[in-house]
Amino acid sequence: MHPLLQHDLEHLDEILEQACDTALTYLRSLPERPVSAPAESQRIAPGDDKLSEQGVGAQRALAQFWHDHAEGLSASAGPRYFAFVTGGGTPAALAADWLVSAIDQNTQLSFDSVASALEVATLSQLKQLLGLPESLCGSFVSGATMANFVSMAIARQWLGLQRGVDVAQQGLHALGPLRVISAAAHSSSVKALSMLGIGRDALVNVATLPESEAIDPAALEQLLIQDPGLPTLVLASAGTVNTVAFDDLPALLALRERFGFWLHVDAAFGGVAAASPRYAALLEGWQQADSVTIDAHKWLNVPYDSAVQFTAQQHLALQVQVFQNHSAYLALPSVRPDNYLHLTPENSRRFRALPVWMALKAYGRAGIAEIVERNVQLAAILAQGLEAIPGLTLLAPVLLNVVCFALDSASASAEETAKRDRFLKLLDAAGVVRCTPTTLAGKPGIRAALVNWMTEEQDIKRALQSMVQCLKSV
Ligand SMILES: *Cc1c(COP(=O)(O)O)cnc(C)c1O
Repeated sequence: MHPLLQHDLEHLDEILEQACDTALTYLRSLPERPVSAPAESQRIAPGDDKLSEQGVGAQRALAQFWHDHAEGLSASAGPRYFAFVTGGGTPAALAADWLVSAIDQNTQLSFDSVASALEVATLSQLKQLLGLPESLCGSFVSGATMANFVSMAIARQWLGLQRGVDVAQQGLHALGPLRVISAAAHSSSVKALSMLGIGRDALVNVATLPESEAIDPAALEQLLIQDPGLPTLVLASAGTVNTVAFDDLPALLALRERFGFWLHVDAAFGGVAAASPRYAALLEGWQQADSVTIDAHKWLNVPYDSAVQFTAQQHLALQVQVFQNHSAYLALPSVRPDNYLHLTPENSRRFRALPVWMALKAYGRAGIAEIVERNVQLAAILAQGLEAIPGLTLLAPVLLNVVCFALDSASASAEETAKRDRFLKLLDAAGVVRCTPTTLAGKPGIRAALVNWMTEEQDIKRALQSMVQCLKSV
């Protein structure tokens, strides 16, 4: 064995303690750490990309990383990082995530580990948490992008079936024309259309309800009537990123009865709202979807990367048709919900279920519901505070946990966009709160998405103070 490997093997305790100390230093710094790392600390020093010939051992490598790059880290795990939709990691989820690396299971149905059975058990608990039927089949994937991709790949197989074509076997060219309809599909679903060879141009945008990002069911009906025989995939949203709009799933299901399409529900973060009885009704109908996406690294507050893809049981055979993997050294694919090698794009898979399992054991339904309800309450307080600040205005009513706002003067002009960008740059430089730019109804807006388990009212106060301060010099 290489002497440094031998040394590290003998000093494993100290190495892991050093990693733990480093992690604690970061976590304890979160309340004061700049949410956005200073630009100069985000760059790599010359020579830092040079391969080490002899190595320095784990302890020096760890120390060097922390010494050189601690300042270059954002506070994305912290309570005032409202950019994108960014969850943190609850203590139980974080601890489990460390264990995942230590125990290093390859989660397939390999008959040598409990890992795939625990994945099934975790998904059962998640379904109980969110009011989803036990019959849904789930798999852990790396993120909602991948969950959307997998769902749409199964949908593509189903679209082929409508024409007697096996796309997985014959290829996309055998499929013929099809249609994908949505109102506010997440960009990752559009990316998935490209990855699936369906093409971004296949997406038809249907009209929305007035002042909303949600599909207008009457407009959808008109589209479907125009070409009733065309194989169709409808991408529904259960929580859009700008305004947390929920499509009217019961209305979409009634249309599916008549026209027969695949209904995919992207509930990346909005789905977790179902953990609270206050908001579960927003998701009504998602139990009957053909496929569902839920992120774990957003509102479930599990470290990156983790999401769940759900498929209605009757489509599991289609999922296996798409993702089956034949090899002389592997068992033949069988249609069963724990045979993960044949259900998702990966062959080797990280034991992603464990952090979710641990979080649900540790905090239960009540704990997750509390995070959801607190975030929603704080979003309302943030919105109230923003409205009271001269110079800021809400761009949309706050439905749940995302506040979409703008500078007072916001109009669809290049100057206003530049002014918004200056404001966000000042906010980043102040380092107290991070928000992301967006466009809503053509206007340059700003989003604050609250999903972190640590966020408290004092964080909202500090965020508002920083905004007032930055407005002065915009
Ligand atoms: C975040 C998000 C995605 C993409 O998820 P990743 O986890 O970043 O891959 C897809 N859909 C919605 C609605 C989202 O909020």
